[in-house]
Amino acid sequence: MKIQLHRFLPLTTSEGPGKRACVWVQGCPIHCKGCGVPWTWNPNHGIRTNVEEIWTQIEESKRKHDIEGITFLGGEPFEQAEALSVLAERAQEDGLSVMTFSGYYREQLEELAKPGAEKLLANTDIFLDGPFEIDHPDHVRPWIGSTNQGIHFLTDRYKALENKLSEFPDRLEIYLKDDGTIEANGMVPTEVWKRLLKDFNGVKLKR
Ligand code: SF4
Repeated sequence: MKIQLHRFLPLTTSEGPGKRACVWVQGCPIHCKGCGVPWTWNPNHGIRTNVEEIWTQIEESKRKHDIEGITFLGGEPFEQAEALSVLAERAQEDGLSVMTFSGYYREQLEELAKPGAEKLLANTDIFLDGPFEIDHPDHVRPWIGSTNQGIHFLTDRYKALENKLSEFPDRLEIYLKDDGTIEANGMVPTEVWKRLLKDFNGVKLKR
């Protein structure tokens, strides 16, 4: 089954609880004002790959980095829910937790009934929903960008964190690649991003 991938990160501690691998899919039709990753919007960009190849990378992350779970980000994960639901199901069978982001609210997803959406949610432990609203930034809860967005604990796996979210700091990871480019991920306030981009003036920054 094919996946249009933006980026695979074998190890992160910024996109959910504990050590995780992260899958950013390519393509998002939601186009939130102030989106931090507009280069993930075009569904024809990115890398054409498939479930098997990504699963191999996830298994390698587990072996090498002892990850406890995977996180699906975008782009919009529910535009490719069918393929991601296969990965999510396999991850759960393998003992890995699953965290899934969406720019759609859960109620919208129920109405849209996208192929694979139900199965993806059924295999998700933490579900983060809603579009980014630039005028309502959230500096209290981790992982998300605005106060309208929800963090839903769909299973008991991380339920104990539900009332402790403000204890998780926002994190930013920056990688200097062998080819001289810099990759970054995580969630920090827009002003911090602007300062960083100014400091990185002249350096090619990829997210
Ligand atoms: S849903 Fe996410 S990726 Fe899509 S436009 Fe909004 S912030 Fe950007």
